[in-house]
Amino acid sequence: MNEWILQYDGFDPDQERLREALCTLGNGYFATRGAAEEATASAIHYPATYLAGGFNRLTTDIAGRPIVNEDLVNFPNWLHLTFQPEGGEWFNLLAVEILSYRQELHLKIGLLIRNFRFRDKQGNEFTISSRRLVHMGNPHLAAIETSITSENWSGKMRVKSELDGSVINAGVERYKHLNSKHLETLSMGNVNDDAVHLLVRTTQSHLEVAQTARTQLFYQGQRLTAETHVYEKKEIIGQELEFDLEKGRTVKVEKIVALYTCRDSAISECSLAAREAISRCGRFQDLLESHTRAWHSLWRRYDVEVRTHDQAQLVLRLHIFHLLQTISPHTIGLNVGVPARGLHGEAYRGHIFWDEMFMFFFYTLRIPEVTRSLLLYRYRRLDAARISAKEAGYEGAMYPWQSGSDGTEETQKVHLNPISGRWIDDHSHLQRHVNIAIVYNVWQYFQASWDMEFMGYYGAEMILEVARFWASISTYNKKTKRYEIKGVMGPDEYHDKYPNAEKGGLNNNAYTNVMAVWVIERAIEVLDLLDEERRSELFEELDLKKEEIQRWKEITRKMTVIFHDDGIISQFEGYDQLEEFDWDRYRKKYGNIERLDRILEAEGDTPNRYKLSKQADVLMLFYLLPIKEVQRLFQQLGYTFDDTTFRKNVDYYMERTSHGSTLSRVVHAFVLAHIDPPRFWAFFTEALKSDIADIQGGTTKEGIHLGAMAGIDDLVLGCYAGIETWGKHISFNPVLPGGMQKLHLRLRYRGRWFELDMIKGRLRLSVDKDGTEPVPVSVKGKTYHIQPGHSQNFKL
Ligand code: BGC
Repeated sequence: MNEWILQYDGFDPDQERLREALCTLGNGYFATRGAAEEATASAIHYPATYLAGGFNRLTTDIAGRPIVNEDLVNFPNWLHLTFQPEGGEWFNLLAVEILSYRQELHLKIGLLIRNFRFRDKQGNEFTISSRRLVHMGNPHLAAIETSITSENWSGKMRVKSELDGSVINAGVERYKHLNSKHLETLSMGNVNDDAVHLLVRTTQSHLEVAQTARTQLFYQGQRLTAETHVYEKKEIIGQELEFDLEKGRTVKVEKIVALYTCRDSAISECSLAAREAISRCGRFQDLLESHTRAWHSLWRRYDVEVRTHDQAQLVLRLHIFHLLQTISPHTIGLNVGVPARGLHGEAYRGHIFWDEMFMFFFYTLRIPEVTRSLLLYRYRRLDAARISAKEAGYEGAMYPWQSGSDGTEETQKVHLNPISGRWIDDHSHLQRHVNIAIVYNVWQYFQASWDMEFMGYYGAEMILEVARFWASISTYNKKTKRYEIKGVMGPDEYHDKYPNAEKGGLNNNAYTNVMAVWVIERAIEVLDLLDEERRSELFEELDLKKEEIQRWKEITRKMTVIFHDDGIISQFEGYDQLEEFDWDRYRKKYGNIERLDRILEAEGDTPNRYKLSKQADVLMLFYLLPIKEVQRLFQQLGYTFDDTTFRKNVDYYMERTSHGSTLSRVVHAFVLAHIDPPRFWAFFTEALKSDIADIQGGTTKEGIHLGAMAGIDDLVLGCYAGIETWGKHISFNPVLPGGMQKLHLRLRYRGRWFELDMIKGRLRLSVDKDGTEPVPVSVKGKTYHIQPGHSQNFKL
């Protein structure tokens, strides 16, 4: 098996949308699903192009309520390219006899290849070979090269190449009731004999997007002149090229596309920029060469080599590939966050969640500048978060659970249960813990980069304002003499309120309470980190008072955590009163019971009644913080929490989790790494399959699960290599649970490059040549100093 190529043999209509998501090509600026060039949207195909930060709002009447939804817009389909032999039909895979079919995604060079042979209704046989790229060097370019070989036919061949602005958002069946027409066409026409252009605008956000497409023919390397005509259909601009094709001959069609938006910098106007780009770019092969070079340098930074069971290497690379296609160096300065489902589909409408927390380590440890840019997405929306806090009656900044263009809350008010067909009130915006994730991300970035400028000017302000929010939502309970946080939801979305309650929200979610304490501690710490000048500026600008900080300190010692059953951390107050769930009965009845929310609601029941979880909630604590740090926090709060209670909690919640989110297995695997290697391995391999095997049975086609993809890379970094970036210097505490025989990776920490090799019980660490001072590292708790340009071996 080639560990750089994802390949599919045969055409499978049922799997096509999944393949399209997994074969998406992108560069951080835009991405296009791996749909067949000749296809238009149907039950089988869904060609779609998404732009980083390309949102639009529409209002729909749902169940008598006006519902505003902000979507990541499907922009014009630039892929469309098909052909028709004289006397035959426009090529359609479903209407011909397929003689052979193979699709390959070449991860190393970001190239999608389709090779197939077919016989049409007239008995004519053709061989088609197409190659496609979305340029990683120049984010505005994409290209297709299709070779058409006639096996047994000679005659006039017509090629049709379009830019299709008639597309709507129709990638998710559940959203079909929502308005979906986001684009209006502003202009279209031909640029010259070879090229056409299209300019569209989103209906509400007024984002203008220009595409120019140049389509040319070549025979044996030479331009082939063709009879060309340009046509306009409603919202579609196309070109037809007619030429003679002789039996046994191969003609190449090249379609090069440029895409610009009115938000791009250093342009006069986006249509003009697109036209100029097309007039200057070379042929497909030239683009492929520069594109390959760009991928080469990304892989130098990001590749993780492993030797393990069959598919792990390929899948890991597939994940890295998609992470880099969603967020790349082209993201820097773009004012965008990371959509939970990539730029690969319309699930969750392209919104940005806490999932970033699972992804930033991946980016930071290779190109910290990328994470900095993503954190600035949050910083620019700090005012929106302040307004949200104020409107909800709190102080500080309260970031939204789902974020889009302007940082207001984008979470849906109602959602559809596809099993029952009912619209249900959605309380998930009460997941205030997203504010923990944002501070965690700032802190983690800072630890790995020691970027004091960022911390001083952006990070500290976010941390302080979020800490202020946590302090303000915390109320003092005179009876217990402790602080409490009420009316929120934890990460487990299956509990959104108390059984029979009208209002959403639960009290004292343990994850939220403990991590809120951690956030407040970071706020106090950050004040010490800043220089005197910046500290007093911030005190003044944010109107921080000494008494306020005094109260923060008190909260960090008196926050409530509820326990039950002798040491079990209650997921929230009242959890112990819930009924045990009959897992066996439901497994027998339904098979896959990951989406218990839907199953139970359709039965007229609710998960709120039971001790069950969609995903890791309490266990998130041990995913985010080293166990010693969790113990310290508990101790500070006056609770006992030792190793035995840790294990008890792991077992308790493992038994009660349905893994309805792909993030869940990543967390469980991580937590198990140090205490139960065989179970770690089981979770790791299952998590690895999340997208490639679409283990949720139909969600990947609507967009990949980027958090899980990055989380799996983190498992390799955090568990196998045991990398920790919290201390004075980087540390490695490798654990090698069965299966992983070799590991090689590079990473960047506080301005230095490290290279790590692990083979069977041996660790070799190398540091870059820069500087003269020895570089401190900690391995298994002991500190060593490695000279620049040198390596050191360690026995594990
Ligand atoms: C999970 C959330 C996650 C969201 C987006 C949901 O299914 O429960 O934790 O943030 O998906 O990935």
